[in-house]
Amino acid sequence: MIPKSVPKKLQAVIAHWDDERTIENGIIIMIKSGYKWNFDDHGLHVRGYDTVREAIDDLRDVVPCDCEQCK
Ligand SMILES: [Zn+2]
Repeated sequence: MIPKSVPKKLQAVIAHWDDERTIENGIIIMIKSGYKWNFDDHGLHVRGYDTVREAIDDLRDVVPCDCEQCK
């Protein structure tokens, strides 16, 4: 479940939010098809975070994606 502290605008691009911190996997986020994190040339669609704050910061850098996987 996506925490309420995540702004609605950012929630809109999240496909799955799995908080697995209790089993030490961190917070695993998959973003919706058609979007990616704007951090590398490969188009990342799934990322892991230690904190909600970090995840929110990175979600601000989600951009449209037209990779093969998203088509
Ligand atoms: Zn993509």
